[in-house]
Amino acid sequence: MRRHRGSAAWLLVWAALAAAPTQAGLDRSIERMMGREAREAIESEYRVVETPVVHDFVDRVGQRVAAVSPRKMTYTIRVIESDEVNAMALPSGDIYVTTGLLAFADGQDELAGVLGHEIGHVAAKHSLRSFKKQFWAGVVFGVVKMPSGLETAGQLATTLYFLRYSRKDEAEADRLGAQIALDAGYDPFALRVFMGRLAEAREERLSTVETWFTTHPEPERRFHRLGELKQLDATRLTTVATIGSGYLDRHFAGAAVLRLRRAAALAPDDAQVQLRLAQAAAAAGLADEAARHAARAAELDGGLAEEAQRIEQTAQADADPDEPAPADVEEQAAQRLTQVEASREAATAASQALSERLAETGQKRKEVADRAERLGRELTDAASTQQVTGERRAMLQRSATVLNEIEKVIGRLGGVAKASAEASKQTETTGTTLAERLKSAQAPATKARLVECADRYVAGVERRQAAHAAITEQADEAMAALSAAAKHLGEAIDALSSSGGLGFSSELGLGAARTSLEAAEKETKQAAAAADRASALQSEAMVTETAWQLDMETLTLSPATHRQLDEVVGGYLGAEAEAVREARREAGGLGSAALRLMATPPAEGEGEAEDPEALKPEQQPGVAALMTLLCKDVKREMAAAKRAAEDPEAQEPTVEEAAE
Ligand SMILES: [Zn+2]
Repeated sequence: MRRHRGSAAWLLVWAALAAAPTQAGLDRSIERMMGREAREAIESEYRVVETPVVHDFVDRVGQRVAAVSPRKMTYTIRVIESDEVNAMALPSGDIYVTTGLLAFADGQDELAGVLGHEIGHVAAKHSLRSFKKQFWAGVVFGVVKMPSGLETAGQLATTLYFLRYSRKDEAEADRLGAQIALDAGYDPFALRVFMGRLAEAREERLSTVETWFTTHPEPERRFHRLGELKQLDATRLTTVATIGSGYLDRHFAGAAVLRLRRAAALAPDDAQVQLRLAQAAAAAGLADEAARHAARAAELDGGLAEEAQRIEQTAQADADPDEPAPADVEEQAAQRLTQVEASREAATAASQALSERLAETGQKRKEVADRAERLGRELTDAASTQQVTGERRAMLQRSATVLNEIEKVIGRLGGVAKASAEASKQTETTGTTLAERLKSAQAPATKARLVECADRYVAGVERRQAAHAAITEQADEAMAALSAAAKHLGEAIDALSSSGGLGFSSELGLGAARTSLEAAEKETKQAAAAADRASALQSEAMVTETAWQLDMETLTLSPATHRQLDEVVGGYLGAEAEAVREARREAGGLGSAALRLMATPPAEGEGEAEDPEALKPEQQPGVAALMTLLCKDVKREMAAAKRAAEDPEAQEPTVEEAAE
């Protein structure tokens, strides 16, 4: 038995494990130890997002779910910066969600489902159980020699943590996750939909979902198994009614109506369900439906009469008034149609020019990449020749670093190119939709709002063009610097390879290599800086664009839907609906209002907090992902409200819909 100092604590754990493997206090200390090790590993690899609005939102959803977890303990929710779609739970109660997952999730209910699943792992003590099992197996088979200190224990814990959970554990976490998401007022069907979308993304070979599958295997199987859970039984009244009520509490009135209609169909004589449906319909601006169900609720339960009457009155008072439209709205609409079409054509032309340009730089990128690959081989050859000592060895290592950097910059430029092309396409599509609506709109009030949309579109396209020009300039600069760096690096490697001998020529070769290498290092740095600027400009343009799209899409909504969406957005920002409404009026739309409210004002003494443009929410980590999630929720609710209004029979969820 090896012993040395520092092993006391671990020995204690080990001894206590042997004596009383189920003792709660001991289990907790093992969980904490495992958690600490893994937390350090995760936080040294990823950056924790500290942007308040992002952290606070995810924490609010997480704590709401954690509050109904069967295991009461402190759960700490953190967002980490990574494009990978992933979530992790540590036995200590630390839960991590990536910004990639925020952007991938189709609304907060999916996020809640994933958080529920992760909290489920902690609640069921899966890590601890697997740790103990592996530990005993290790002791029996001699893998774990006698413990030689906490360090080893920690490493072991980390290794074990990163092992997959068993299939049984995953199933249990799904079941627990669906249950606690439902109990917390979220839609548990969303977890299943999320799983289905992940499986699809894998089939499409989306690179950002790959890591998910190393820790969460078999999405298809889980998708099917989730469908068999009682929490996901769309014929079960309590499930459907709870989901509907949860949506209503979070002001997703359209989504609530669709679920509560189904609940009412399942139990036509349930007074509470009738009352909730009346409330949801009133919130969605469906006054007649609200009145009908309020009356039915009062009929079924006399005690609800007062509340029913109140709902009826509010629904009537809330019925959307006809807004006055300017007299020359027809003329304005015709004029804006011409402008929108011109802008859209400009956007199309820009989009095509950009594609051509990208094809060109794509070719250049490929050349540099090929060159980098050749250099890599030469570098290996040069390193394997004899007498690689001293300075030459150091220079070969530096060359390898430069090569690595060059490849990174190429990858980043490729990402910028792709995102720019997608954004251009989007601008074009929006223009087409807007032009169609301007042509087909009948009501003067709608036309007036479309005129406002058109003005925003024209201004938006101009902004887009300017952003494109700036991005292209930086990308070109980066490409030029990269080409130069690759050339100089090639020269350096040539010189290093041919300076293998001794004496004067060797010294001369080393000198030449040094000069070329220094040039390559400098140029690579320039390229990286330009690529960073291009990438920052691109993500800035993208966030602003997302906000702008949302402005346009929500501009022609009914006042009732708008009121609900102000609440939804307020829920994201931890702000009152009234504050959102006010910002919406000032900023000109819901998306711009959200973005403005997301900005963290600089600490006192650092710049003027008064100027909203100086706040730059788009430059704060995680904001882009949060904006993406918010937009999806708003759009989903808009679609649900539209469906509920247009089709009085529409219901959700049906088993078929949830399985799609
Ligand atoms: Zn899992």
